Amino acid sequence: MNTAAFGTDSDSLIHLVIVGSGWAGYTLSAELDYSKYKVTVISPDPITTYTPLLASALCGLFGFKVAEEPVRRRSRPVSLYQAVVDSVDFGSKTVHCTSKINSFEPERIEVSYDQIVLCQGCKGNDFGIPGVGEHSFAVRNTKDASALRNKISDILEKANLPTTTPERRRELLHFAIVGGGPTGVELAAELFDTMHQDIAKMFPHLEEYFNIAIYDVASNILSNFEEDLSTYALESFRRRGVKVHTSTHITEVRDGSMTTKEKGEIKFGILIWATGNANVPLTEKLNCRKSKEGLVRLLTDDQLRLHYTNGRIIRDAFAIGDAADIESLSLPTTAEVAVQKAKWLAKNLSANGEGTPFKFHEKRMVAYLGASAGVWQNDKVKLRGRLAWLSWRSTSLSWTHDWRKKILILVNWTLNYFYGKEIARI
Ligand SMILES: Cc1cc2nc3c(=O)[nH]c(=O)nc-3n(C[C@H](O)[C@H](O)[C@H](O)COP(=O)(O)OP(=O)(O)OC[C@H]3O[C@@H](n4cnc5c(N)ncnc54)[C@H](O)[C@@H]3O)c2cc1C
Repeated sequence: MNTAAFGTDSDSLIHLVIVGSGWAGYTLSAELDYSKYKVTVISPDPITTYTPLLASALCGLFGFKVAEEPVRRRSRPVSLYQAVVDSVDFGSKTVHCTSKINSFEPERIEVSYDQIVLCQGCKGNDFGIPGVGEHSFAVRNTKDASALRNKISDILEKANLPTTTPERRRELLHFAIVGGGPTGVELAAELFDTMHQDIAKMFPHLEEYFNIAIYDVASNILSNFEEDLSTYALESFRRRGVKVHTSTHITEVRDGSMTTKEKGEIKFGILIWATGNANVPLTEKLNCRKSKEGLVRLLTDDQLRLHYTNGRIIRDAFAIGDAADIESLSLPTTAEVAVQKAKWLAKNLSANGEGTPFKFHEKRMVAYLGASAGVWQNDKVKLRGRLAWLSWRSTSLSWTHDWRKKILILVNWTLNYFYGKEIARI
């Protein structure tokens, strides 16, 4: 057993352990005051993914590297263990982990801390439907998106063979997206654009078989938007040929087909699962106060501190991001919330004290609908169509704070406009 101990004895810096390197963990590591803190991130991913940019990267608007950011930076002395946290002993302030380095056997390690922030996020929810894990694609990070892109290439090559019958082409080129929330909608929109604007130029004989479809149990898509905007989204999809199957319940998924309660067996070439969040095992295991209904999340107070189940504050332990929620101020599982909490906590920790309670400032909700149209809303303004698309594009630029990446995105948009997307040149 290896034990890494920092900051607890001679070192004057406070040793802060961050569990997870997603939006919450990464932002916190970037915002902390390194003159006071020694920071160790523990995560199986040495990079963070800019999830809002994933659909665009998948469809070749820019390379996958643009949609990710390494946690380690030359400009800040953050250390990282590529490992999964198995448990946390809040009493002895020790984290028990297992290393997760591809070409090496896992090793058990222990890390002691002065303060800990849990940001382990969530995983996709298969709602217990058999076959989802084995036969569908998730799009939660650049590895997922890259695997999906390879599958799209394979599907196109298979459909292109002279031996492939028209009926089989129709099945193969049915890309089924489960989930009518912003993630599913944007994936459908970007895929629809790419297939019809770019791929169709190389495979014109296949275009009549393209079928991008959304399936959702709800009766509408984008149901967290104002009703008129979600209706606009539905109508604009239907007008352009993105099929939207609302009130549809999937009961089983197999290799190349799924069963729905309403329509029986449906064949597909690709199934993308873009719906719901479920707990990661660590959240299940932790002995602390959790929410009781829906997605079970770690419940913090408005200072983002964790509590034992008997209500007592757990000393020096905090939780932010999708895995956590505030008692009596439930917030959605979004990057926006994760980033605001991370920034608030970094400021408060650095200031060494109890601050004014955390308050969420809703900025805007935005979704791309394809064909240079979108929907956008904040608490005062609602936009739809081209103006919303332009706002969506500027929002895309704001997700990354790295100027090199902003420039790369702009350059790629320009190149795509003149020469087509990268995916069309594979
Ligand atoms: C395709 C897509 C598009 C999205 N678009 C938007 C958008 O436009 N706007 C928006 O606001 N939100 C968006 N979201 C939601 C947003 O990505 C999440 O809300 C956000 O990622 C939550 O951040 P997090 O840090 O809590 O969790 P995550 O980003 O999921 O990160 C969790 C981290 O913890 C690590 N981890 C898990 N278990 C352990 C463990 N046991 N030990 C150590 N590490 C662990 C994971 O590997 C990961 O690094 C999108 C999500 C997806 C999938």
